[in-house]
Amino acid sequence: MPIVNIVEKIIWDNMDSVFDQKPGMCRCEICKMDIAAYALNKLKPHYAVTDKGAAITRAHFIETQFYLDLIIVLTEAVEKVSANPRHGSV
Ligand SMILES: [Zn+2]
Repeated sequence: MPIVNIVEKIIWDNMDSVFDQKPGMCRCEICKMDIAAYALNKLKPHYAVTDKGAAITRAHFIETQFYLDLIIVLTEAVEKVSANPRHGSV
């Protein structure tokens, strides 16, 4: 049974809406991975054991300050990566 980091799930769920706020942002896989990695390094992980547990915890998170912080970090991550994208140098 996989252990799921809910924070990672929420980051991927919100990736598109953050991109929508920054229309010029590159949407290639490398940039998306860099954004996710940046945000994950800044945020405390929250693990769940089952998909059901993950869904419940996720629903709970949407209402919290943690979720607002996550969006702020994610927006910051987009700024960082767009200022210095890695896709050109790989
Ligand atoms: Zn890119």
